[in-house]
Amino acid sequence: MGSSALHEATKSIIEWGKTVGKASAARPKATEIFGSLTFSDEVQRRRLPRDVYKALRRTITHGEALDASSADVIASAMKDWAVEHGATHYTHWFQPMTGITAEKHDSFIIPTPDGGRAVADFSGKELIKGEPDASSFPSGGMRSTFEARGYTAWDPTSPPWLLTGQNGTTLVIPTAFLSWTGESLDKKTPLLRSIEALSKQAIRILTLFGSKAERVGTTCGPEQEYFLIDRHFYFARPDLINAGRTLFGAKPPKGQELEDQYFGAIPERVMAFMQDVETELYKVSVPVKTRHNEVAPSQYELAPIFENANVATDHQMMTMEVMRRVAPKYGLACLLHEKPFAGVNGSGKHLNWSMSDDLGNNLLNPGDTPHDNIQFLVFCAAMLRAVNKWQGLLRMSIASAGNDHRLGANEAPPAIISIFLGDMLTDIFEQIEKGGAKRTKTGGILDTGVSVLPKLPRDAGDRNRTSPLAFTGNKFEFRAVSANQSIAFPNIALNVAMTESLDYVATELEKATKAKKSLDQAVKELLPKIVKDHKRIIFNGNGYSSEWLKEATKRGLLNLTNTVDALPELVQPDVVKIFEKYKVLSARELHARYEVAVETYTKTVNVEAQLMVLMANRYILPAALRYQKDVADSVRSVRDAGGATRESKKVLDKIIGLIDEFRVRTDRLAKALDRHVPDAEKHAKYIRDVVVPAMAELRETGDQIEVLIPHETWPLPTYREMLFVK
Ligand code: ADP
Ligand code: MG
Repeated sequence: MGSSALHEATKSIIEWGKTVGKASAARPKATEIFGSLTFSDEVQRRRLPRDVYKALRRTITHGEALDASSADVIASAMKDWAVEHGATHYTHWFQPMTGITAEKHDSFIIPTPDGGRAVADFSGKELIKGEPDASSFPSGGMRSTFEARGYTAWDPTSPPWLLTGQNGTTLVIPTAFLSWTGESLDKKTPLLRSIEALSKQAIRILTLFGSKAERVGTTCGPEQEYFLIDRHFYFARPDLINAGRTLFGAKPPKGQELEDQYFGAIPERVMAFMQDVETELYKVSVPVKTRHNEVAPSQYELAPIFENANVATDHQMMTMEVMRRVAPKYGLACLLHEKPFAGVNGSGKHLNWSMSDDLGNNLLNPGDTPHDNIQFLVFCAAMLRAVNKWQGLLRMSIASAGNDHRLGANEAPPAIISIFLGDMLTDIFEQIEKGGAKRTKTGGILDTGVSVLPKLPRDAGDRNRTSPLAFTGNKFEFRAVSANQSIAFPNIALNVAMTESLDYVATELEKATKAKKSLDQAVKELLPKIVKDHKRIIFNGNGYSSEWLKEATKRGLLNLTNTVDALPELVQPDVVKIFEKYKVLSARELHARYEVAVETYTKTVNVEAQLMVLMANRYILPAALRYQKDVADSVRSVRDAGGATRESKKVLDKIIGLIDEFRVRTDRLAKALDRHVPDAEKHAKYIRDVVVPAMAELRETGDQIEVLIPHETWPLPTYREMLFVK
């Protein structure tokens, strides 16, 4: 089986090879296709009456409510536009607490009263409100199934787009998802609330600095890492199909140790996939920009240009969807799991995050001389305080069964939350703590020693790939976010933490200036205090090292190494208090999310463990028994023929021993899964402490069997094949 998948994959790669160098049909220019399937601002301006367009813009930029008659006009224009582009259906698209997207399609078509014909119709009411049956989405106990009513509410701030399929086109309308009682059942609602909350506090500070800005938004640019493997391998691995990651698999002789992958040449077939994905995303206005090879074999990255966090979050969900959809066209499978393969790097989703006001200023832009840019220093200090104070919340926001394999597992960022500030800013904050910042370290000029090469200005500090949260020039990069999670909650966590911190800073500065201190003086007094109290969160060194673990413990930083330990941070009293204070989520809504997250952890690992038992019994054990018989037969024949069996007997003993151990460990895992633990939290702990270790043990033996078994007999595609045949 393994070899037949290899055979098929090789065949398809050879076929593909024949097309290399032949350019496909002339492609339209990116500038022409960009936004061609989006009900964009430009389309809105062209198609809406002036006053309605203006009302909609006010809603988008100032959060003003939209009146019913405007909604009717917009709905009708949207429908006309969609139908002209071939749409027959529309859907309210939303992001339930599962972390994926949901959609239910309805037709525009309604029959005429006599039933003889049909016309396309779409009202403002249908645009604004949908009513999917909410009972099958997780609510975390907020509502029992008989109170199934849930509403989707149009989010006018994220533009609708057209989803084209082979046999039709659907108008997709981004929406929020709420229960009948007005509680949020989704990820968009709290994200929007958190942006508003942050805006309010940030504006207080900007106002003190004399700014005319009225609103602050958060900006975000998520870099997506992913694996691509041949589809034949994917379909021959039940674990990839059902769990998204390999549950068995011996380490290949060549992994990533030669460091010859990162930024390496992109294979032709992969390049074709990337270009197709980019074209599809351009059409729906997702501004993808960067593509490259990543560190692990067959691992790649795609990054867009940053946008406002709400649209960026929708676009990120669309990006993952498009990647999954386009891959089969090229005979590939796209793996978005955090850790599809043990022993090589997993995949993250670096979340670049900043704040920007409605006049277009990035509030985290340090300028050329940050030491005298006090507004920047105030926002940056607020961030230090936010991350130090709300470490637990931030850690929780990236916790999942899949991410447990990355965080702290000697790769990517550790599970300890800290901030990398770089030499230049660290130096400035040290000066501040000592009484005032007087100068900015500069990087000077990089001398290449070659006269024809340009002189390059050098950055004041090096980069750091091991930090979970790094300041990178004019934004923070939350690197611990995982490849297949929605970026909504990490965004919400950053926003809420920052909101609380900005509130504190604004209150202190307002107090001081009311007491007739100059703003300068007020800042000079406040910042050293913040630095002193919160500088323990700054760490510029190697996050993988054991010294950091020791140092972080000494500093009293949290080290929540696994999901079960991290999730309760969401319902800590302090956390609940700020979510309620800033009206982002109520205690009930938070507890619901906590429950859903705990259950998701348990269910995820349960499915994986069951799959392991299945693969052990139906794939690995039969292959091992067959091989055992072959070896036994061979030993017997050799002995009958009077030959020496000493060495072949050793092979036989080895496989017998491994099969014994494998059987015992399979049974142990199966038994562990049989145990019923009624309480959800206790169940999650049980899964972590009993099931996860039993899985690791079973895998260890399975992987030892793999390297013993002949190639033709091994029933699964191997790491060597999956990662290197491309
Ligand atoms: P780096 O080389 O540090 O990864 P890039 O310039 O390649 O930086 O940017 C990485 C991501 O960060 C991109 O998606 C980019 O659009 C995004 N980004 C840049 N500036 C901001 C900002 N002010 N706010 C949010 N994201 C940003
Ligand atoms: Mg980056």
